[in-house]
Amino acid sequence: MDPKSTLPITRGEFAGLALFHKVSFESIAGYLLGIPAVEYEPDTVIISPQVANATMYVVLSGSLEVRLEAPDGLLVGTLSQGDCAGEMSVFDNSDPSAWVVSRDTARLLPLERDIVLAMLHASHDLCLNLLHILSQRLRFNNRVMTADKHHIRRIEEYATVDALTGLHNRRWMQSMFEREFQRSIMGNLPLCALMLDIDFFKKVNDTYGHLAGDSVLAVIAQTTTMSLRPSDMIVRYGGEEIAILLPSTVEEDAMMVAERVRHAVLHRNIELPDGTFHKATVSIGVSVLRAGDSMEALIARADKSLYTAKASGRNCTRLIA
Ligand code: GH3
Ligand code: MG
Ligand code: MG
Repeated sequence: MDPKSTLPITRGEFAGLALFHKVSFESIAGYLLGIPAVEYEPDTVIISPQVANATMYVVLSGSLEVRLEAPDGLLVGTLSQGDCAGEMSVFDNSDPSAWVVSRDTARLLPLERDIVLAMLHASHDLCLNLLHILSQRLRFNNRVMTADKHHIRRIEEYATVDALTGLHNRRWMQSMFEREFQRSIMGNLPLCALMLDIDFFKKVNDTYGHLAGDSVLAVIAQTTTMSLRPSDMIVRYGGEEIAILLPSTVEEDAMMVAERVRHAVLHRNIELPDGTFHKATVSIGVSVLRAGDSMEALIARADKSLYTAKASGRNCTRLIA
């Protein structure tokens, strides 16, 4: 039988493929006998994470797309003549991590795991070529991961909402509190600030665990929000501290709002992740806008009032003049 008649690729094609760089045609040709090169229509799924794969594909002509999550998901790479697909699952026996789809009509050389391993035993140069291809794949993945991390960091930088409590964070506070502060000064309007801190919160974490602490924090944030007007501004100031700005509000009303929040928390039964219920209390410090104040000074006085509330035995509201 003439081997050439059943070979999937010509000697010329063989020489042009990176996988077979420096590999002698004669040492490998025997393994390729009887393997058909396969032609795929455009948009055909060749490798899918949902189907176990034991075949490595070498692109002879046309091109393939590598996509994440779905056959039409995020495009992370394209493969063209000489590139390989599926080589990782041939080696580690695990399911493919991405979708490989033909972009146009693609002619591929499918090499089953047994054939790949046999060819690697036969040719040292083939091993080196495949190592080179795999290390390039690793480098590419590292680049994608680094780009992803950079992207996530950028998103975090611009985020203004705290994920645990759903409250705005300090970044939002800096611009929005300042804006409201300036509006009050310019309009000669009253303004008050509250600083709230959960009492003995460390004990909640220590007794019931950090996750239970998180639930308590989230419920207190929600309870506080529900006790305020839509125009009041609330932020997660620190770990378990909440700062509130009350526009157009005088001292007596601010004290009333603070007490309303404190009572709402006091009467709330908080369900913990294990299904049991917990009661928590908060201490609240109040401050009132004074002539010559800065935003920082107003908040610092609310913080000082909070300290007094803690020193007075907690679960109370205080205002220091
Ligand atoms: P005090 O009544 O004096 O405020 O006592 P405290 O135990 O609440 O003391 P402090 O305010 O200093 O403790 C804050 C604790 O809150 C420490 C920290 O471990 C915890 N904490 C901060 N942020 C979080 C969070 O997001 N989740 C959980 N579970 N705990 C947090
Ligand atoms: Mg506390
Ligand atoms: Mg605290």
